[in-house]
Amino acid sequence: MHQSTEKLCLVSRRVWLDPPGRYEPRAVLIEQGVIGELAPISAAAELGPEWRVVDLGERPLLPGLINTHVHLEFSASSRPLAEFEKEPVSERLLRAIGNARVLLESGVTTVRDCGSSLELLALVRRPDLHPVTLPRLVMSGPPITITRGHLHMMGGEADTIAEIDAVIQTGREHGARSLKLMGSGGGMTPGTLPESAAYPQFVFDHVAGHARRADLPSVVHVLAPESIRRGALARFDSLEHCAFFVRNDQGALERHFDPAIAGLVRDSGSRVMANLSTATRALERLRQDPSASPDASHQLQQFDLMIENFGRMLAMGIPFVCGTDAGVRDTPFSDTALELVWLERGGMSPVEALRAATLEAAAALHLDRQIGRIAPGYAADLLVFDDDPLERLDRFAAPVGVMARGAIVKASGPLAFSQDNPR
Ligand SMILES: [Zn+2]
Repeated sequence: MHQSTEKLCLVSRRVWLDPPGRYEPRAVLIEQGVIGELAPISAAAELGPEWRVVDLGERPLLPGLINTHVHLEFSASSRPLAEFEKEPVSERLLRAIGNARVLLESGVTTVRDCGSSLELLALVRRPDLHPVTLPRLVMSGPPITITRGHLHMMGGEADTIAEIDAVIQTGREHGARSLKLMGSGGGMTPGTLPESAAYPQFVFDHVAGHARRADLPSVVHVLAPESIRRGALARFDSLEHCAFFVRNDQGALERHFDPAIAGLVRDSGSRVMANLSTATRALERLRQDPSASPDASHQLQQFDLMIENFGRMLAMGIPFVCGTDAGVRDTPFSDTALELVWLERGGMSPVEALRAATLEAAAALHLDRQIGRIAPGYAADLLVFDDDPLERLDRFAAPVGVMARGAIVKASGPLAFSQDNPR
């Protein structure tokens, strides 16, 4: 790894401290990739010659973002699953490294992969082999799914408790440290039923309980009311999508918000990953030219309903985490900032949207003592901006400096003295 070993002091008039959730002038001392003291700015002048002091002036310094839901092996093209099935694993591994690097350069210093082949876990088993610095990776490995269920081609098919335990054990032996259950079918996998729960309640309970005992983050894919209900009752750390899909008489999936089930989610302690921004660039094009797809009006109407339902759940006090499902159809790895933009459009304040990608996401990954804050003892995962990104959340897409575990991976301006692999 390109771990920085030098002593670095970053001085900024605007260091994001959360809690309390405001900028303060600070000298941030960094050693061995970890934040040490947060000193008054005047302390920088007293540091010994072994310290490199970088004055960022008014440039805001914020913690690196966390994206809790991506699929590194996917291509983000219009047909990612067809490519997944066609490509040998060696090619998918190369693709995944590139995708992880794109995430890092866009300011995402921690990434959870929510479903991959077993072979992709080489990324976390052999970090010494990475050709470039990558974000911190939390891998789920092959998601647990019923026979022929959602994303079964990743290798995690399991119908009985014994088969489920075997999938979990194999994943952990290969480096997985997140447990992902496919609690319903998925629109991406032909022949699966998004509107139905895939497993009985005791399976949801078993997987979430296993994760709790092993102190691993648990995550469940739930698209329909009954699967959301089971995921909440099992108290998964995060509930993905929560689409409330019901099949209508014409055979199409419609969102039917259920306030009673949403109440269960609120009371469960689970966080929700809403991926509002997934495929939104393609949807915006469709809004301009609805003739491009026969069901354009249905797609756009369901998107608007999703935003409306998000607002309802937000008003109920349900906590959300940032995730994008990057890699799936038309959802590039550079677009984590777009999720923050949509979280704000859906009703969050800019600070709440940032927390979904920092404090809340770190808690959902059981990493809240290591990442998500600028504080002593936390990883030096840091972003530098020319202008305040909290004034305009799309600015999160373009940090001028990115530091991961103390290594400078992207830099211009005052940080440009050192970079692990300049381009
Ligand atoms: Zn996904």
